[in-house]
Amino acid sequence: MKLSGVKGMNDVLPAEVGRWQEMEALAREVFALYGYREIRTPVVEPAALFARGVGEATDIVNKEMYVFEDKGDDRLALRPEGTAGTVRAFIEHGAYVDGPQKWFYLGAMFRRERPQRGRYRQFHQIGCEAFGVAEPLLDAEQIALLADYLGRLGVRTTLKLNSVGDGECRPAYLADLRSYLDGHRAALCADCRDRIDRNPLRVLDCKVASCQPVLEAAPRLLDRLCAGCRDHLAAVRAGLDALGVEHRLEPRLVRGLDYYVRTAFEFTSDALGAQAAVAGGGRYDRLVETLGGPPTPGIGFALGAERLALILEAMGRPVPPRGPAVFFVLADPAGATEALRLAGALRRAGVACDLDARAGKLKTQFRQAERAGARFALVLGAAEVASGEGKLKDLATRAETPVRLDELAARLGGPG
Ligand code: ATP
Ligand code: MG
Repeated sequence: MKLSGVKGMNDVLPAEVGRWQEMEALAREVFALYGYREIRTPVVEPAALFARGVGEATDIVNKEMYVFEDKGDDRLALRPEGTAGTVRAFIEHGAYVDGPQKWFYLGAMFRRERPQRGRYRQFHQIGCEAFGVAEPLLDAEQIALLADYLGRLGVRTTLKLNSVGDGECRPAYLADLRSYLDGHRAALCADCRDRIDRNPLRVLDCKVASCQPVLEAAPRLLDRLCAGCRDHLAAVRAGLDALGVEHRLEPRLVRGLDYYVRTAFEFTSDALGAQAAVAGGGRYDRLVETLGGPPTPGIGFALGAERLALILEAMGRPVPPRGPAVFFVLADPAGATEALRLAGALRRAGVACDLDARAGKLKTQFRQAERAGARFALVLGAAEVASGEGKLKDLATRAETPVRLDELAARLGGPG
């Protein structure tokens, strides 16, 4: 019987993993520069958390969530996103007593979508959440952090920004939007018609071509913002300008849930085709309260790691090498013993090295050295043991340089 993995859930093989390690290490590095600290929450949460924390009217909860009964009678879910669990942990551990908090996470998420390029059933998100600050300065700083992170990877994106209003200006707008959409029901797709009552803001986000004329002419929340939301948006934009972060106002960008307020943003890339969004985020000042915590403002984003990896690949950015510095090629038993001894010394000095313990033909060993991604190969036999010298062969250029064996660790451990 041949076993294969679950559809839409991918393996990352060692040859590719350098790309993932680079994305993850850089996220940890850059986020720390902005004061964010890592949180790790379980992959499984009570299903009710997402019903409340993401919303029952969303596709994510409604159609895409993996839900199962535990042996008892608990209904559990594989997390479809990271915010709800992070907020749960924030409340459960009383983190709000310590003033504003900035947290980030990296991890696998699960959605039962139709798998295609950039859209998988297990995928990974890198996300930030900041709690306890309602001021627009934080919005600008967090968006700039994401732009900084992508910029350091050399990724070119478009930043789209919008305001989704708040409890003061949105209700009246929604009523108008609903009646406008209702009046154009016949020209909208089935999904849109379905959402007019449940989640009219989401209709604005529809990508179906035949819906576009109606949506383009729809009333814009941007024109109807209350003074508080207008000022907030202006301050976020001024902050981004001050930080040199280019952005574009996108009146139809939404986060279709009630507790999202004001700032909504998305980073898109041309390299991704239909799945253009590499990251999305927004302010969710009522989410902590919705999940049973004290009123606490918040803002967060999530970036799709697979999509970022696709962009890096399309850019031709090389996968950072993760092979050993040197691979010992064993010419005879004396060389094998010396290799083992030298390998120990190198590893103690923090220099990665390897050897093929089968000690077969030299050609085979050189081949293994290349497969392992080693930078250099070094043949060791009785002659090298006797002279204390060998030849370091650069596997990319084939150039050979003499080296004293007792200087190998210093030679390979130094910079470059
Ligand atoms: P989309 O409109 O592409 O479905 P979304 O609005 O569902 O995205 P979010 O829930 O905001 O996405 O998640 C944030 C990011 O996570 C997205 O911008 C995307 O990069 C990534 N993402 C979402 N769903 C998937 C998926 N099924 N496979 C891979 N990446 C995903
Ligand atoms: Mg989606």
